[in-house]
Amino acid sequence: MVALGQAPKLPDMDEAAVIDAVPKQLLVGGSWADAHGAATFDVADPATGLVLCSVADAAPEDGMAALQAAARCQPAMAALTPRERSDILLKAFDLLHERIDDLALLMTLEMGKPLAEARGEITYAAEFFRHFAGEALRIDGGYRTAPAGGSRLLVTKQPVGPCILITPWNFPMAMGTRKLGPAIAAGCASVIKPAAQTPLSMLALVEILTEAGLPPGGVNVITCTDANAVMEPMIRSGLARKLSFTGSTRVGKLLLEQAADKVLRTSMELGGNAPFIVFDDADLDEAVAGLMVAKMRNMGEACTAANRIFVQESIMTAFSQRLADAMKALKLGRGTDEGVAVGPLIDQAAVDKVGRLVDDAVGRGAAVVTGGSAVHGDGYFFSPTVLTEVPHDADLNAEEIFGPVAPLTPFSDETEVVTRANATRYGLVGYVFTNDLRRAVRVAEALEFGMVGLNSGLVSNPYAPFGGVKESGLGREGGAVGIDEYLETKYIGIAV
Ligand code: NAP
Repeated sequence: MVALGQAPKLPDMDEAAVIDAVPKQLLVGGSWADAHGAATFDVADPATGLVLCSVADAAPEDGMAALQAAARCQPAMAALTPRERSDILLKAFDLLHERIDDLALLMTLEMGKPLAEARGEITYAAEFFRHFAGEALRIDGGYRTAPAGGSRLLVTKQPVGPCILITPWNFPMAMGTRKLGPAIAAGCASVIKPAAQTPLSMLALVEILTEAGLPPGGVNVITCTDANAVMEPMIRSGLARKLSFTGSTRVGKLLLEQAADKVLRTSMELGGNAPFIVFDDADLDEAVAGLMVAKMRNMGEACTAANRIFVQESIMTAFSQRLADAMKALKLGRGTDEGVAVGPLIDQAAVDKVGRLVDDAVGRGAAVVTGGSAVHGDGYFFSPTVLTEVPHDADLNAEEIFGPVAPLTPFSDETEVVTRANATRYGLVGYVFTNDLRRAVRVAEALEFGMVGLNSGLVSNPYAPFGGVKESGLGREGGAVGIDEYLETKYIGIAV
């Protein structure tokens, strides 16, 4: 395997052209600029370990310069009319669709997901812009007579102010548009920081927003390797009024502490530990198909991934066999290759973590039906895996697996499975498969999760409120409520 950090060596001309076209610098106040000291870091292809290119490695002063640029631009952003903000988002939506082939290839190269999934993510990402283009026009308020008379109560909404947006590597573009869409719709300027492993999609995205007519400084982008050193002074500076973060619960908690310093508005989209429950009255083919989506989308590297799969005892054998057949049929490989359905994990640490969780479960008595180990060779691959008889105390019941491993556990009745499904500190999403309407409603209401997929393995939808409870986060992204995260409500009392 080629180690990260080696000299850039690009495998294919189309790929080289797509990477070449992306800006590699920081976007600050409308200009692309080197990082302090012209520092850079390498971005690699997780399917090969080869370096794709280098991008600017921001220092703390670069982060502060970007935030100052956002703060300077805030009045101009707030002064754009709703129609102007809406039109910028619609133009960016069109550009994303126009360039979808190149953007999908770029995402596959830096993140590993199969090309078809990368295209799917760009369509999903663009949809946040179309949705919030509409929401920009619908920001409302109120006007009424005070009950005692004598005054009028005027309620209006204003942009919250400059925002710091931080996104993870697993959905390199959609996690950005899910924040930038409502920020722009509300009239907020921002600094966005993508994950160090996948900066290229975000750099391409902010270039599109610039082309779409966003004022200079309306969005600024910082890429860096020392996230804590760069972001903490920005968060504590008092220049920003809002912090929106998608990533791990561990980092989310740290950022909440930092945000407390200046009492920033916060949105936190954090980790998950989704239960996937299959009752014996479910349509088995539908349940297997649903699980394949909930488990295998993004190679299992999703906060929404089915992490604990509860199957009613009487159907366990039939279900596990069908699932194993479906898993064995998946082609593993570089996401750019024809027919590949499962790409690499993001890095060696991810492969090691998934391997540790599988070994722990097997050591405690779980049986491997298919898969069970890393695939040796170039890149960071783990074979699609089905485990049965997974004991309750296995580590993977408590941790996000973030890989293509489906651990099955039997259950006997509804009360038992709801109790076990809720026995987690996380609360992002749960899935229920049943054909009994009353049971479906009972269980969906009893699950302590922000979202429930009912006979569906996919809940993500720009038009629906996405978010978790408990340690999975605060606030909602998308849906009609998504823009509220970027608006302050102001009340003006009018004497008459
Ligand atoms: P992560 O390690 O928490 O990193 C997320 C982002 O935070 C990255 O940009 C990272 O930068 C940055 N970061 C790390 N430490 C920081 C610090 N001290 N200060 C400021 N920023 C910091 O998470 P990840 O591994 O990239 O993503 C996977 C996690 O995201 C999983 O837990 C997954 O469940 C969660 N996720 C949640 C949702 C949701 O909507 N609930 C959606 C997708 C993913 P670097 O790359 O430089 O470390």
